[in-house]
Amino acid sequence: MSVRQHTQHGVNKDEGGLFHRVSLVAVCKSVPISELTARLHSCYLSRADAQAAQNGSMKILIVEDEPKTGDYLKQGLGEAGFVVDLLRDGTDGLHHALTEDYDLAILDVMLPGMDGWAVLAGIRKAGKDMPVLFLSARDHVDDRVKGLELGADDYLVKPFAFSELLARVRTLLRRGGKGSATEFLRAADLELDLLRRRVTRAGKRIDLTSKEFALLELLLRRQDEVLPRSLIASQVWDMNFDSDTNVIEVAMRRLRAKVDDNFEPKLIRTVRGMGYVLESPACA
Ligand code: CA
Repeated sequence: MSVRQHTQHGVNKDEGGLFHRVSLVAVCKSVPISELTARLHSCYLSRADAQAAQNGSMKILIVEDEPKTGDYLKQGLGEAGFVVDLLRDGTDGLHHALTEDYDLAILDVMLPGMDGWAVLAGIRKAGKDMPVLFLSARDHVDDRVKGLELGADDYLVKPFAFSELLARVRTLLRRGGKGSATEFLRAADLELDLLRRRVTRAGKRIDLTSKEFALLELLLRRQDEVLPRSLIASQVWDMNFDSDTNVIEVAMRRLRAKVDDNFEPKLIRTVRGMGYVLESPACA
């Protein structure tokens, strides 16, 4: 049994934690085991290092009592390279905000213990000036005004797409001037400019829709990793997206036509029954 068959078998049994391993093995399957191990290691490390450097190991505090939303945010932001603390209660949240150093806080409005407004007031009263992003199911103008008056920096209404949240988080971190957030993502001669929201390949401008842009950004951030459709659905489309793979396939086909059709090497690949991967030539 080849290495590849073996690991694919593993993934079928346990879809959870093996995507890194499988994607890199698929890339490097023709080399001897000893070299393979070394390559896997260096590819994995360089990717992890790059991601950590991009987000500068920035620390985010989330205070959200809705279990699903909280877990989802923690996982998503963690996967985007941030260090995340999740608290489910306003009082605990404020305590953490005042005793630890965070680069940004994400607060729900309705919380047990102490509501989001009071947490924000406590943060500002203590002289902490980290950016604060409010999340709320309420979309009344009054709430937004109140939040902004109390010193919130942004306000996002639930339900929201994770890509939207991530974009707001990055903007706030950049504005705060503390972040060393990256401005460019690259693979071969493909370049994605996060600030100007522009994509070029071999110096030629490529026009993408906002969904295609988000899709390409995700693939580039996690290059050499096979991304399952469910993950793509949750990160690029609404968080409550009911995984309709056809939507992803159509978007992916359009993206590939724009990014790969007229260029070499081909970067985006379909991994049958598993998902998609953008392979960086350095790891091939
Ligand atoms: Ca709540």
